[in-house]
Order: sequence, then structure tokens, then C-alpha cells
Amino acid sequence: MKNNYEYLVSACLCGEKCRYDGKVFISEHIKQLVDEGKAIMVCPEVLGGMSVPRLPCEIKGGRVLNINNENKTDSFLYGAIKVLEIAKKYEITKAILKEKSPSCGSNYIYNGNFNKELIPGEGLTTKLLRENGIQVVSDELFH
Ligand code: SF4
Repeated sequence: MKNNYEYLVSACLCGEKCRYDGKVFISEHIKQLVDEGKAIMVCPEVLGGMSVPRLPCEIKGGRVLNINNENKTDSFLYGAIKVLEIAKKYEITKAILKEKSPSCGSNYIYNGNFNKELIPGEGLTTKLLRENGIQVVSDELFH
């Protein structure tokens, strides 16, 4: 039977406790898409095997490092691949993902120095989805 899924959405926007800091957040507009059966929640970092909570990570020089300078790139890439697999399985071509995240950011990411400064850029999952023809937009358009 054909599903009605139109979107992938970042799970942390819908009350799932998957953020690096373990905090819970809900964007009502985005959660409504899930409740109506139009969206599937994904968290690439949890799919990549990372724990909750976890140390903050930022992208620097093409790698993802945590605040202790440990290289977490493989986990981020694995999670991105898992998200792409879900998109393909359900033939989803659009995603609404959490801005600023090293996985989910679509316009801005932190600069890699853990000083709260943003630079133009995209997270690893966003990049892989876009490379595969999936349209990724920022959650900030849905506030
Ligand atoms: Fe997971 Fe993306 Fe939310 Fe980070 S921004 S917690 S990777 S869904």
C-alpha cells in the first residue's frame, strides 16, 4: 500500500529526546505533520550510534569533531547514510531539518571553534540528501 509520507523531519523538533544536550523541544507545526502521517522522524546522530546526551560536535575542515577534539565523522556519515536509506525506502523527496546542526543544518552551521559563531554551511545529512536530489529546508521556515 502506498504511504502518505511527504517529509523527513528532524526528530528533535517533535519532542523526541535525541538532542546532544538531552533537552526536549517541540515545533507544533512540524509535529503536526508527523501526527497526520505526512512525515517520518529521523535523528541521524542517534541512527549513527551516538548517545543522548553527547558532547557537542561541530564541523571543521570537513571533519566532525566533538568539543574534546575527538573525530566523530564516521558516526555522522553512517547516520546520514541511514537517513538516506529511509528516504529512498519511502520515496520521500523533501526534508525539514533542524538549522545549525552539524547533521541537519541547511543554511548555517557553527564555525568549528565552539564559540557560538555561525557560518554559511550545511550538515552532513543535509549534504548527502541534497546530493541525492532530496530538497532540504530549514525548520526556521516553519515557526
Ligand atoms: Fe538529531 Fe538532527 Fe536533531 Fe541533531 S538536529 S538531535 S542530529 S535530529
